Amino acid sequence: MGRTHKESHRAERIGWLRAAVLGANDGIVSTSSLVVGVAAASALRSEVLIAGVAGLVAGAMSMAAGEYVSVSSQADTEKADLERERTELATDAEFELQELASIYVERGLDPALAKEVAAQLMVHDALGAHARDELGFSESTVARPVQAALASAASFTAGAALPLVVVLLAPESSLVIAVSVISLIFLAVLGVLAARAGGAPALRAAVRVTFWGALAMALTAGIGALFGTVV
Ligand SMILES: [Zn+2]
Repeated sequence: MGRTHKESHRAERIGWLRAAVLGANDGIVSTSSLVVGVAAASALRSEVLIAGVAGLVAGAMSMAAGEYVSVSSQADTEKADLERERTELATDAEFELQELASIYVERGLDPALAKEVAAQLMVHDALGAHARDELGFSESTVARPVQAALASAASFTAGAALPLVVVLLAPESSLVIAVSVISLIFLAVLGVLAARAGGAPALRAAVRVTFWGALAMALTAGIGALFGTVV
């Protein structure tokens, strides 16, 4: 059964939502762990805040850089594929016509109609037809490195800002507990959101993400407390 236009938009939205939730997840886990570790070393609120903001900026930049590099290499591959296709179309149009027609036959068209459709599409936009139906490129999946990097940095920053707001508002003496508890609640909510968006069981997703978040915070709090006594 072909996918409806509405469904493909939903799938696209889910893709973006999942990426945003994962980015925010990273932001919460890495920044709250950092903050809890520094606070456990009995630092002052201002010191915890400086460490947290530095962690936010460092994390957002590394996410953006990583995303930019990986999506750029995807863009390079797509560009190289298109160039190769353009050359093949210029050097062997007859073979390319057969190739496209056979793709349509596989999709259920009878051979005569498939050849006619392929011929008309190649007259209209040969490279576009091959990019879409042979290489599987579509407008929504084209690699956009800058957009992906910005989206990744933004979602990380949104996640990382949450524990920092708690650092600003909670009593200095209970920063470790306040940041831990509230960050775990945020993680659980994000876990449920991501699961709902993907149609997966919400509880399992929430437990999974809070477990790893709690483990990360417990480890850094332990190390922070240890350093706090030693240094
Ligand atoms: Zn081709």
